[in-house]
Amino acid sequence: MSALEMRGKPVADFYEQTIKAKISVAKNNGLNVNLTIIAVGDDPASHVYKNRLKKKIEDLGGSATVIERGRETTEEEVINIVRRLNRNRYATGIMPLMPMPSHIDGDAVGAVVTANKDVDCLNPINAGSFFFGSNKWAAATPRACMAILEYNNIELAGKHAVVVGRSNVVGKPMAHLLLQKNATVTICHSRTKNLAEHLRQADIIVAAVGKANFIKADMVKEGAVLVDVGINAVDGKIVGDIDPAAYAKSSAYTPVPGGVGVVSNMMIMEALVRNI
Ligand code: NAP
Repeated sequence: MSALEMRGKPVADFYEQTIKAKISVAKNNGLNVNLTIIAVGDDPASHVYKNRLKKKIEDLGGSATVIERGRETTEEEVINIVRRLNRNRYATGIMPLMPMPSHIDGDAVGAVVTANKDVDCLNPINAGSFFFGSNKWAAATPRACMAILEYNNIELAGKHAVVVGRSNVVGKPMAHLLLQKNATVTICHSRTKNLAEHLRQADIIVAAVGKANFIKADMVKEGAVLVDVGINAVDGKIVGDIDPAAYAKSSAYTPVPGGVGVVSNMMIMEALVRNI
């Protein structure tokens, strides 16, 4: 049987209706829905991302403000921008784009975003609420992976899920969300020994490594479900962390591009309206 391609668009469309309706209700009640994006430096991927987020919120009926600063901006200056936005009633969501230039500690900036304007779980209070079980505070990308699995009726309870990557924005929260759904979860990282052996035992693999085509077909069990978070630029094209040659062995997979990324952007929008 051929593998199910779990595209992001139908999942994003499914959420879009509710988000649009919420923004419309807010507007009718005189409430503003605005995402303020802070872009520091000249990272080309951030540039593309910021334009996508801006377009998306505008398409949904809200507004976007983009604050751009050069590479030379100091951490203190960025933190002061965030503090001002925390007090600014027009900015209902604040998103400092990561990665920040290397002299700025992105975690320190994220920690200053006030909890109810934090749309990507950068604030430790939101991270704490999430680990105590309140999923509406979880970071957008792992929520997107779960939304795709749920939309495609992928059974998680009792399954062995292997998450490759342990970042605070993807790997760790992903493992926690899978655990909440009663999967048995293994987290692998750069110090994991015999990664291929772990992967070959997985019913579900979530790849969040940041290395192009890193997980090969021979590391994947027949019938496994593959979720690819990776976004890697190779020869001007975007490829994932999972080698597409592995798809044929899977029962279902997310393509790159067109998979997790599309839904992640929608999850940012969902976080923006979560209190409406
Ligand atoms: P990250 O902070 O760089 O984390 C990468 C993780 O991969 C780390 O935990 C690292 O282990 C692990 N790793 C590196 N080399 C490895 C190896 N040889 N074997 C096993 N594990 C290894 O990256 P991230 O922010 O989590 O993002 C991961 C990928 O997802 C990137 O491609 C990023 O662009 C993409 N991404 C996509 C979306 C989306 O919406 N689709 C959103 C966010 C990120 P250590 O902890 O031991 O270093």
